[in-house]
Amino acid sequence: MQDPNGSLTPPDPRFAGHLTETCTGPDCFVRQHMACVRKDLDPFNLGSLAKVKGKLYCESCRTKWSNPFFEKVKDIMGPIVVESKQPLAVSRIITRDHLSYIRKMDGQAQLQLICLQLDDAVLLRQHWPLEVSLVVNDHAVRVIGRQSKIALGINQRDEAANLNHIARLGSNTIRFSFDDPGRKYILFLQLMRKLTVEEVKKKMNPPLSLVEAEIRMKRLVMGDDEDLVTERSRISLKCPLLGSRMRRAARFADSDGIDNVFDLEAILDSAQRTRRWICPHSLRSSALFHLQEDAYLNRVLDCLKDSPDVVEIEVDPEARWRPIYPSSGEE
Ligand SMILES: [Zn+2]
Ligand SMILES: [Zn+2]
Repeated sequence: MQDPNGSLTPPDPRFAGHLTETCTGPDCFVRQHMACVRKDLDPFNLGSLAKVKGKLYCESCRTKWSNPFFEKVKDIMGPIVVESKQPLAVSRIITRDHLSYIRKMDGQAQLQLICLQLDDAVLLRQHWPLEVSLVVNDHAVRVIGRQSKIALGINQRDEAANLNHIARLGSNTIRFSFDDPGRKYILFLQLMRKLTVEEVKKKMNPPLSLVEAEIRMKRLVMGDDEDLVTERSRISLKCPLLGSRMRRAARFADSDGIDNVFDLEAILDSAQRTRRWICPHSLRSSALFHLQEDAYLNRVLDCLKDSPDVVEIEVDPEARWRPIYPSSGEE
């Protein structure tokens, strides 16, 4: 079990008997004192914990999924919890192996200082504090583009600080402080490797089989209410990010709308630029591990290879579809 508070200090009798909850991250079984992470929770009240069940991530998963275009090669420091106006000064050893790995990878590896806000409203993002100051080996490092007094907006994402050009063999000193009253931040120093797009795609949710995808489509066309007269549903094949027809259809498995589909490469491009995994239809925040190719619509797109003008289809309650040709217009 990890506890961001407990990891800093000797076991504190105040935390004895805190209820624990398992991390939501894929393949992660870490149990945490969730009330130590989330200020709004009552550590002894099951109901209080239930409302966040399935929405809690340990700090290791939070760093991992905040920027899945990089993969951790080595932990060098962290997690270290830092409080406002309590400057941190630590030193860490950078070895010959670390430095030669960075050189060998020729721009594809980074020594990253990663910062999370302990109680962030958006869990899977990086977030530097207000009035942050970072000095590594006597070099001031600028970690944010925004003004240091302006808080990170709900749709914004911060980036890790790349220390490749400052790190040196042997002891490296990191001085970190901020003025962001009442907030705690967690720091990590990790050696990271940049992934190729193909490697990033391997971290997606595996697609449904065609049979499963048809069952899902029937359910979506029928709707939840069985008493309703079922009708055909129209699905646009246009990607809101591209403005044109999807080449390969994808969606976030945690946004179940029939229309919540978009172009796979376009969402990966967008996420790589913005670090955001947001469904462009529902505007819900999601994650790479929910991203999934849409087996049903990819089959449709394959069939429509020779009809590039078709940007809409109609699906009946048996999940049979037909193209809507632009010339036929609205019937
Ligand atoms: Zn605790
Ligand atoms: Zn986890």
